[in-house]
Amino acid sequence: MNKKLALSIDIGGTNCAYGLVDSLGEIHYENSVETATFGEAIKFVSFLKQDEEIYNSLNQIIGIGIGAPNGNHFTGEIQFAPNLPWEKGIIPIKNYFETEFQIPTILTNDANAAAEGEKLFGSAKELENFIVITLGTGLGSGIYINNEILYGSNGLAGEFGHIRVVKNGRQCKCGRNGCLETYASSSGIIRSFEEFKADYSSSSLYDEKTIKAKMIFKHAINGDSFAKFLVDYTANILGNALADFTAFSDPQAYILFGGIAQSGEYFRSLVQNYFDQNSLNIYKNKVQILNSNLHDKNAAILGNAASIFKRIKY
Ligand SMILES: [Zn+2]
Repeated sequence: MNKKLALSIDIGGTNCAYGLVDSLGEIHYENSVETATFGEAIKFVSFLKQDEEIYNSLNQIIGIGIGAPNGNHFTGEIQFAPNLPWEKGIIPIKNYFETEFQIPTILTNDANAAAEGEKLFGSAKELENFIVITLGTGLGSGIYINNEILYGSNGLAGEFGHIRVVKNGRQCKCGRNGCLETYASSSGIIRSFEEFKADYSSSSLYDEKTIKAKMIFKHAINGDSFAKFLVDYTANILGNALADFTAFSDPQAYILFGGIAQSGEYFRSLVQNYFDQNSLNIYKNKVQILNSNLHDKNAAILGNAASIFKRIKY
């Protein structure tokens, strides 16, 4: 077998997942390791080089695609990532990989990798203008305009999670108030649970030991009225925000990706309704809210591999 492969790496605060992917999106090998196993980034790089599957495939690997929180595509650095248990400050991760492996390496942030994955392997194959909204602990966005990712002047375009949507709203980790991700994310919906629980004297959610975002969606689908309210409240804020963001790049679609998007059609259709009700007339019936169809596979691994196959000639 001498297929060309991408070594794809998804660096997260808790786990680092990695795999070998071919140009059709087939994952040939995947594995993961706890991020905190390594005190510093360079040790993680050496560990991967020693992985037997990777080592034996080195002559087939055309590029290394890395997705990381606070990953700057232009500088190849992870910059001040608060949730990574490695050295603080600036980590020149692209440089580390290129020195160790002698293979071209591309670093991108998680949301841009998700957008590349949707374009090459997922819901956006036929689209040239779309925006992927990643709904995890926070909210990220990867913007495709005229068939290209929008990076912006410093590689920081697409921080939709920190557009302020509620005046004097919830305190955000960025130091400001009312940012979209303090409402529309898995942590946001849990904050909503805390904020509104005094209004509901009974709910099946109260039988749960700890509240997780996915659980709220499950209870809502089962008909619990407090859970339904929470999902509706989240969809309302997100649908309204997306309706306003449309004025910026006139996308064909928004693709909902990650954690809470996996609740499927129920959440998607609510977001679409709020979006349609609040859109400017000129955009009415022109913009679709879609769910990612990469959920069943390892979407982050595919996304990072997609940046390699798109950008490196092979
Ligand atoms: Zn913020």
